[in-house]
Amino acid sequence: MTFSSHGIGISTTRQVAIGAAFLLQRGPLDIAPRLIPEEMVEAEVERFRKALNTARDRLRAVRQHLPTGTAEDISSFIDTHLLMLDDSAISQAPIELIRTHQYAAEWALQRRRNELVRVFDEMDDPYLRTRRDDVEHVVGQIQIALQQGTGRDEAPSDLTNHIVVARDLTPADIIMLKNRGVIAFVTEYGGPLSHTAILARSLGIAAVLGVHHASQLLRSGETLIVDGEAGVVLADPTREILQHYQQRIIAQAAREAELRRNLDLPAITRDGQRILLLANIELPEDITATLANRADGVGLFRTEFLYMNRTTPPSEEEQLETYLSAVHGLNGAPLTIRTLDLGADKTIECSDPNCPPSNNPALGLRAIRLCLKEPDLFLPQLRAILRASAEGQVRLMIPMLSCIAELQETLALLEQTKQELSREGLRFNATMPVGGMIEIPAAAIAAASFARQLDFLSIGTNDLIQYTLAVDRMDESVNYLFDPLHPSVLQLIQMTIHAANNAGIPISMCGEMAGDPLFTQLLLGMGLRELSMQPGALLETRQVVRASDLPRLTRQAQAFLQQMHSKPAATLFAELFH
Ligand code: PEP
Ligand code: MG
Repeated sequence: MTFSSHGIGISTTRQVAIGAAFLLQRGPLDIAPRLIPEEMVEAEVERFRKALNTARDRLRAVRQHLPTGTAEDISSFIDTHLLMLDDSAISQAPIELIRTHQYAAEWALQRRRNELVRVFDEMDDPYLRTRRDDVEHVVGQIQIALQQGTGRDEAPSDLTNHIVVARDLTPADIIMLKNRGVIAFVTEYGGPLSHTAILARSLGIAAVLGVHHASQLLRSGETLIVDGEAGVVLADPTREILQHYQQRIIAQAAREAELRRNLDLPAITRDGQRILLLANIELPEDITATLANRADGVGLFRTEFLYMNRTTPPSEEEQLETYLSAVHGLNGAPLTIRTLDLGADKTIECSDPNCPPSNNPALGLRAIRLCLKEPDLFLPQLRAILRASAEGQVRLMIPMLSCIAELQETLALLEQTKQELSREGLRFNATMPVGGMIEIPAAAIAAASFARQLDFLSIGTNDLIQYTLAVDRMDESVNYLFDPLHPSVLQLIQMTIHAANNAGIPISMCGEMAGDPLFTQLLLGMGLRELSMQPGALLETRQVVRASDLPRLTRQAQAFLQQMHSKPAATLFAELFH
């Protein structure tokens, strides 16, 4: 009898995979406290160092054997992990614990891991919280090296057509397993913003994450169907179910071929409207994937990544160098640099140790609120962005605006920075466009006021949905309420589009909704002409754009918005758009 489990589906062009399950015993180890005799301390330190070297060698080997054409962000994950292996927080602190407390190496490392993870767990910002995964993965690599020879499962070298089921997987695991022929993944942990999810999307493979107890429920060798679109894993499927999914795989392969054929075709609707398809990036290296997928530029550069894994913020010069490498990589295409959207709590602790931690960090001092409060943090970034604007089409974007006072304060700081740069004889674009993210319901309602004072707006649906529906985007237990089609969300999006159109300024969307092809037609029908998304989603979206007829979509969207209060949105959406 077919058995189904549910989780969070991750899919790009390949949504479905059928294969034999392989249970990989990876993931968090149970490390028990253990002390060593005093005379063993230096030998234990040596054992820890050896494990560090082994972990480093393994990561380097993975880095070297990346298949050609692998997206830059994958190699940068590994580079980040290599850097973390050398960070004293991981490479030195456990040695101190071995020496001062006579802890066994595994336990010393685990204690250190617990401290680091606690810090990350307290952070509000989801991108910083994904750094927690990095800590877990790097520590996991060292633990595996420490446990060598203790009988932990290793994956066989040939796993062709297998679906790996594991508690958790590191980015390095995923690349290695993909090279061994693995066609899909099922993990017990990880959300849609985890590195595992990003990698699965980036490599174009199906995955379902967050399937509770998958390692206990599924058996090695049994046939599995992974439906990354629906977030479903089916075990022991009936012949009919199998046939249904085999058909889907055939359709999927045809679709991929079609997408590749259309790589160089412009994103123009049937009725001749050019749609701008932009990329969301986190590092200048992501420009490679941006160009490979023929993006029209970058609609969101999340600069907080530059501030991660370090104790001091990047200097103005360092930032300038980073921004310029992105500007030059883009060859004249626009680069939208978002000012720091850092979670507030950690910075408060750093800058003012007497300040109590926020009980509700998502509603606390984050993004522009934090930047305005910490000019020492903010001004070097404004200077660097302005200076980068001298050499390309740079646009500055302000996150999390909630009221006009914040905007005016930011604009005043920008003006002051321009005057300083002029006095110092440093070049910048005096008319650099300045835009704002609309991601708080109050800002959407007041979008007309923001539109009057800004050069462009961009809708951040990840936060807009979170704040409109009071659904923590990181909390798995309320994930089912995170609904882009909720009438209130759509009404706020519509208000924002109207406000920008009335003010005659460009309006784009850069939340995950913009990169989900399911919603492309609705968004076009609602009037969006610019969408910014992870580079891997560009081809599929371009295809939807090319098949779209705007006058028809406009009518459908209007019908949807008029009727959405009287019918369940999902039913109505299916009726009108599929
Ligand atoms: C958003 O909130 O939709 C957005 C794009 O910003 P982030 O996901 O970085 O918070
Ligand atoms: Mg946001």
